[in-house]
Amino acid sequence: MNYYSTNHQSPAATLQEAVVRGLAPDKGLYMPERIEKLPHEFFEHIDLMDFPTIACHVADAFFGEDVPQDTLHSLVRDALNFDVPLVPVTDGLYSLELFHGPTLAFKDVGARFMARLLGYFIRREGDTEVNVLVATSGDTGSAVANGFLGVPGIRVYVLYPKGKVSTLQERQFTTLGDNITALEVDGTFDDCQALVKEAFLDADLNAHMKLTSANSINVARFLPQAFYYFYAYAQWRKLQPEADARRLVVCVPSGNFGNLTAGLFARRMGLPVSRFMAANNRNDVFYQYLQTGVYTPRPSIATIANAMDVGAPSNFARILDLYGDDHDAIARDITGATYTDEQIAETVRQVWQEHHYLLDPHGACGCRALQEGLHEGEDGIFLETAHPAKFRETVQRIIGQPVSVPDRLRAFLEREKQTVELPKDFAHFKAYLMEQ
Ligand SMILES: *Cc1c(COP(=O)(O)O)cnc(C)c1O
Repeated sequence: MNYYSTNHQSPAATLQEAVVRGLAPDKGLYMPERIEKLPHEFFEHIDLMDFPTIACHVADAFFGEDVPQDTLHSLVRDALNFDVPLVPVTDGLYSLELFHGPTLAFKDVGARFMARLLGYFIRREGDTEVNVLVATSGDTGSAVANGFLGVPGIRVYVLYPKGKVSTLQERQFTTLGDNITALEVDGTFDDCQALVKEAFLDADLNAHMKLTSANSINVARFLPQAFYYFYAYAQWRKLQPEADARRLVVCVPSGNFGNLTAGLFARRMGLPVSRFMAANNRNDVFYQYLQTGVYTPRPSIATIANAMDVGAPSNFARILDLYGDDHDAIARDITGATYTDEQIAETVRQVWQEHHYLLDPHGACGCRALQEGLHEGEDGIFLETAHPAKFRETVQRIIGQPVSVPDRLRAFLEREKQTVELPKDFAHFKAYLMEQ
């Protein structure tokens, strides 16, 4: 299947081209040229299927023309080596726990799938090694590094600002070894990002080594996020005997809107979700767009749900494209919500006290939007995008109790940090890469 750019100024790309490039040459985002409807029988028996089996059906619809089926299915099964359980919080309100992967956040799904798909392309081409450069302020680095860990043919360089990420975050990408190298840059996150951008433009470097990114807008990270919407529906049908008589609302705590957009794709494929909710923190340009029809990106502001601190959501272009710029149609399918830090904290505390379910600050936005926005006859699922222990200090302060760290997160703390220290100027970074 081909992929077109949302800016329509670049030629169509193959899956492989879209994955290797990330962004289209005209700076648009790639979109699959078709979104296939899944057959009726698939939905009839979906509650009898496990997560990897459901995901294989969905993957066939997107990637079936480009990857042989047995290869594709083994990539999917290998990527999804953890469960995504649907957990009831209270009557008619469910949490889809996306935090059971290696770095305890939903980005593990897309990062693990992309790594394996890229690895397949490299094997198929008999290509030389590919080098992934990624700048991180914390969480992206850990999802990408762990996702790509041990994938043959790929080396990953994670650039991060020295002293500016939490110890727990830092350990998740500096202790892995193998094909992952952490570069500790004496500068800010913006400096790291500038180094990566300059590397992609440098002729000598590109002649010396094959470089690519693992950006969140990459179709190979974005599309697999549709997998778990179908699995959420399957589990809901199983838990809720009167499921067919009720309507289902899915609420997504949103920053760059990749996760929500993948849900919209799932619905186009026939998933019976009656509507979506997009929950924002105070970075609510999408909420404002829903209310007014006017999209005004602005600088982000810091909140306690910091993975959603995005002032110009990159996947907005995909949503517009999917709906042909029709604001009314978008506003019919998606309702918005926006919460302050105080409201987020209040929700974490209330749900903990009343239901003994511990939310992280991002999931809390989603949970509250459903508590306030569900209508009679509707059930709601919110995406719990990260484990509360990832935001331990914040959550402990809110509930006034210690939050225990799961073993697999604690294990990172016991490993030894290994980094290469670099100044923030490009000449040093380039010289380092030229020696690799
Ligand atoms: C990345 C992230 C989000 C936002 O997801 P988008 O796809 O960018 O909207 C929400 N919660 C957590 C914990 C995240 O890491």
